[in-house]
Amino acid sequence: MNLDEAIRKVPDFPKPGILFYDVTSIFTNPEAYKYVVEQMVSLYKNVEVSGVIAIESRGFLLGSCFAVERGVPLVLARKKGKLPGKTLEESYALEYGQATLQIHSEDLKPGRWLIIDDLIATGGTLEAVAKMVLRQGAEVAGMFGVIGLPFLKYEEKIGAYHPRTLINYSGE
Ligand code: AMP
Repeated sequence: MNLDEAIRKVPDFPKPGILFYDVTSIFTNPEAYKYVVEQMVSLYKNVEVSGVIAIESRGFLLGSCFAVERGVPLVLARKKGKLPGKTLEESYALEYGQATLQIHSEDLKPGRWLIIDDLIATGGTLEAVAKMVLRQGAEVAGMFGVIGLPFLKYEEKIGAYHPRTLINYSGE
């Protein structure tokens, strides 16, 4: 499977100078989607994971597959204002702009949580979720993104949580 070929690249989206790596082109490609899920699950086969936190929205489509495969709970990290119950909340800086994520606090039980998103750029999104996990007294089992952009130095921010990716791109 050539994963690179399965990822659509869109220059200057959502603003000039950003090369957008669009994983929705994986979801429309059953062979690529299956490959990504299998690889992701196999990366953690020897890692104790008691639950998955998937990040809105493309992370949902990876985290849900992982949760079903491993038979563990799936918790959604959603953009502010979408969750009806009592929430934990964390704001953070994006590669482009700012955002706030929320998680239903009662769902984030003690245990080892794997945090899943589609892409890791600066690591700010995953770090925000990790802060909520730690604030609840739970643990971070690991972090996963299909794509990594190491030139944005996410290792400096979240390296301690052992982020794993399936494919990395340089900034050139
Ligand atoms: P960060 O918090 O900087 O690691 O950014 C990761 C989040 O922003 C993920 O949810 C990605 O979907 C999105 N993102 C950031 N940069 C890009 C990019 N160049 N292409 C696609 N998605 C991106």
